[in-house]
Amino acid sequence: MSEKKITGILNRVIEIDLSSKTVSTISISMDQRRLFLGGKGLGLKLMYDRLKPGIDPFGEENIIIIMTGVLTGTSAPCSGRFHAVFKSPLTHIIGSSSCGGSFGRMLKTNGWDGLIIRGKSPSPISLQIHHDQVEFLDAKDLWGKDISVVQAKIGSKENETIVIGPAGENRVYFANAASGYRYLWRGGLGAVMGSKNLKTLIVLKGQYKTVPFYPEKFEKLKNRANTYINRNPMSLLMRDYGTAANAEYIIKNRMLPVENFSFGNHQKAIEITGRQIKARHHTKHHTCKPCSILCGHKGMFNDSVNTVPEYETLALLGSNLGIFDTNFISLFNDICNEKGMDTISAGGTLAWVMEASKKGLVDIDLEFGHPDKIIRALNATANLEGFGKDMATGSRALSGKYGGKEFAIQVKGLEMAGYDPRGAYGQGLGYAVANRGACHLSSFPVVFENLLGFLDPDTIKAKPEFVKFFENFYAALNSLDICQFTGYGLTLETFLTRITPKAVLAFLMQQLPSFALSLVDFSIYPDFFNAVTGMKLSSREFMIAGERIHILERLMNTIEGIRKADDTLPDRMLFESMKDDPRKRCVPLSPMIDKYYRLRGYDDEGIPKTSFLKKLNL
Ligand code: SF4
Repeated sequence: MSEKKITGILNRVIEIDLSSKTVSTISISMDQRRLFLGGKGLGLKLMYDRLKPGIDPFGEENIIIIMTGVLTGTSAPCSGRFHAVFKSPLTHIIGSSSCGGSFGRMLKTNGWDGLIIRGKSPSPISLQIHHDQVEFLDAKDLWGKDISVVQAKIGSKENETIVIGPAGENRVYFANAASGYRYLWRGGLGAVMGSKNLKTLIVLKGQYKTVPFYPEKFEKLKNRANTYINRNPMSLLMRDYGTAANAEYIIKNRMLPVENFSFGNHQKAIEITGRQIKARHHTKHHTCKPCSILCGHKGMFNDSVNTVPEYETLALLGSNLGIFDTNFISLFNDICNEKGMDTISAGGTLAWVMEASKKGLVDIDLEFGHPDKIIRALNATANLEGFGKDMATGSRALSGKYGGKEFAIQVKGLEMAGYDPRGAYGQGLGYAVANRGACHLSSFPVVFENLLGFLDPDTIKAKPEFVKFFENFYAALNSLDICQFTGYGLTLETFLTRITPKAVLAFLMQQLPSFALSLVDFSIYPDFFNAVTGMKLSSREFMIAGERIHILERLMNTIEGIRKADDTLPDRMLFESMKDDPRKRCVPLSPMIDKYYRLRGYDDEGIPKTSFLKKLNL
């Protein structure tokens, strides 16, 4: 069949009902495209129009939406991404996950911008999509199998897949799903797929090729983007050491989670830094495609080539469990990847159990620093064996059942990522208000507070402004779909930022944050949107789209019952300092929340005001 060219988008989404085995087509209007861009934004909008409030995440009514962005399928740097939206069993609010696997690119070759899955199959199935054809294939022989086993059985050069492991089948609340060696990590998409008896999604290679509407402009933008990335120190650090590059500055600033966020550093912490891992495990690039930053790596672990654990995994399944041997952490990572579990939530949950066991709240043989016990616990969780059945519900549910809420390190049910907010107050606000829970990818001020040194980590000043800015910005990037990590190079290497002395930038950001943020040049992103689709989009429209998308997600969460009381941090972060912190810091959250709500247009309970929603066309 001859190849057909598409300029960025087709505005067609396929909707599949697993209960009735019916298929239909949804059209996306150009207005919706302009307002919500694609990826996460359009996924949320389609979800908002369909999801009944208050439904059981494991019920037939839950919906999974997988969306690509206008850049998916192009050769723009770091654009091989797609997004999933669903109601999360872990948080009972909207779950969303971004992934760098190739499923989205392949879906687009079939002429679909996205995929909506509703209903529930009575028995295990694989969904196979090719052009307009959908096949409901029996998957009984795949049920119970680990992710790599299934991938080896059904994968080929002519298809891309999304696969869940036994943890997803068993509805472990934080089960994930794999697209190649990249994962839809957080919030339990794997468990929702499992509840629908959906073991795999398969897309065969189609006939469409995504080409830019303005090819010359696109090539120029690509070259500019690559120039920025190739001279940006943060991007180069990630290229050399992966996300484990973060470990050094986190350790230096005493904010590494150690033993369930009890300490901020450890004498063996150097073992999990990117530099050490590169030297010891002889790492090589192993990335999403296409990518110019190249943060993904593989290396030699336990005598075989394996994916280098992300910083989050090194922290949550490593230092936070009292483990600093990277071969063991790689082993834990493997178990999670094979069974299909989010390593952050798995680590946060096990850390809670270890502390609860020490305090006598539960009677489980699980201790900090014992790798053999961790291996047993991870397998028990994935397979729901013994206490694993409880661990599969995450730290919020566990602490609700056994006590110990003050040291359940989660927000809205989602376990916290690997940056202790007592060492960066802006990150504390970011975790507290993030739409999907204690997530570092909703806003990531810790980089400005620590690594880049633009903001003082120990003050609340300027933090609400930065959290709001990053939330809007990242929502827009996740809707294009382009990797968030491009944000460093593509904004900090632009002309004005580059010629301004760092001390001046730091002064402006800290003292006049709104003014400083208004000067940030992110025009390359809407320019990419225009070059690919032919649609004009100003920088202002791009950022307002990001804000609209973020607020829509917040609105959906408030419909599910989220209020101000949920925008908080675990007591440990608010009232207890790290045991090794001489300054005895805790996060002064309350004044930051008040300011943030004012900036956001929320009422006193954290609900977006009607007048503000109207302004955003919501
Ligand atoms: S920078 Fe890393 S996460 Fe982003 S697209 Fe590249 S490999 Fe993937």
